[in-house]
Amino acid sequence: MFEGLPIEQQVPLAPFTTFKIGGPAKYFLRAKTLAELLQALTMAQSSNMAVYILGGGSNVLVHDRGFDGLVIKMELHDISITTTRLTAGAGVLLNTAIRLAVNAGLAGLEFATGVPASVGGAVWANLGCRGSDISQIVESVVACDRQGNQKIFTRADCQFQYRDSMFKHQPWIILQASFQLHFGDNTALRQRMVALTKLKKNEQNVGEDTAGCAFRNPINSTASQLIDQLGLKGFQIGGAKVSERHANFIINTGQATADQVVQLISYIKQQVRDQLGVQLQEEIEYVGF
Ligand SMILES: Cc1cc2nc3c(=O)[nH]c(=O)nc-3n(C[C@H](O)[C@H](O)[C@H](O)COP(=O)(O)OP(=O)(O)OC[C@H]3O[C@@H](n4cnc5c(N)ncnc54)[C@H](O)[C@@H]3O)c2cc1C
Repeated sequence: MFEGLPIEQQVPLAPFTTFKIGGPAKYFLRAKTLAELLQALTMAQSSNMAVYILGGGSNVLVHDRGFDGLVIKMELHDISITTTRLTAGAGVLLNTAIRLAVNAGLAGLEFATGVPASVGGAVWANLGCRGSDISQIVESVVACDRQGNQKIFTRADCQFQYRDSMFKHQPWIILQASFQLHFGDNTALRQRMVALTKLKKNEQNVGEDTAGCAFRNPINSTASQLIDQLGLKGFQIGGAKVSERHANFIINTGQATADQVVQLISYIKQQVRDQLGVQLQEEIEYVGF
């Protein structure tokens, strides 16, 4: 069906996610070039096959049965700098882009140091932390629709909001993003990167299998505070556990199934709703559910 493309079959998705959970993709492509991506989209379209776009896999929960269709892992890795503009393919790791920018003496991206993401996933989610987010530096985004038609989006077109963008609501595939940075002091930038890496390690669960924040922050508080307030840190269903360090993180202690994570998420939502009157909403994306 996918003649001429390096498509694999029945590929376990767990290793491609930071949660390390989930069954196989029926078909799996590492899209290293635009041509491969477009060809795969056309072929999937002609056989009416479901397609899922995967970036760094750091905000997804894959169903135990996996995904019955084609998973395309974005591996468009081109990256370049022209004066203060950094342009990166969707598959570039954000931390690679940050390092390159800092080495070139460019400031603006380093707020995200230590956050696992691809450039595409970061734009999609409007990744943010420490009072900043990606929307503040995005200049333009190139994306294509599921038929492969390409379009350039300005920052305004992206309709960024808190952990949200137009891309979350329309089926565009992000191919590349350009960031407008500014010249900064090279030594100070490096020091900031080192300090932020240390901070991230302390405040979060670096080295543990998690998909980051399970829930979006409700208005006027944080999901973490609410979950902590109910004494749920350390609460566990099967191998899925509420982190002791950051109550909005769910940890796979080793053998967690997606089903156990879903049960834990439901339990937390129910407790927070019943006891505190707040309806939490997932930040994690479900794949294959
Ligand atoms: C330890 C840890 C700490 C974290 N800390 C933070 C934090 O401080 N702030 C924060 O905002 N997030 C944080 N996260 C969450 C995560 O880093 C972000 O949500 C990130 O943007 C996910 O990017 P990704 O490339 O891994 O996307 P994936 O997890 O691969 O995908 C997430 C969604 O984006 C879509 N997507 C990915 N690439 C594309 C593309 N090219 N085109 C279209 N759609 C695409 C996918 O289909 C999926 O729906 C953390 C996660 C972990 C594990």
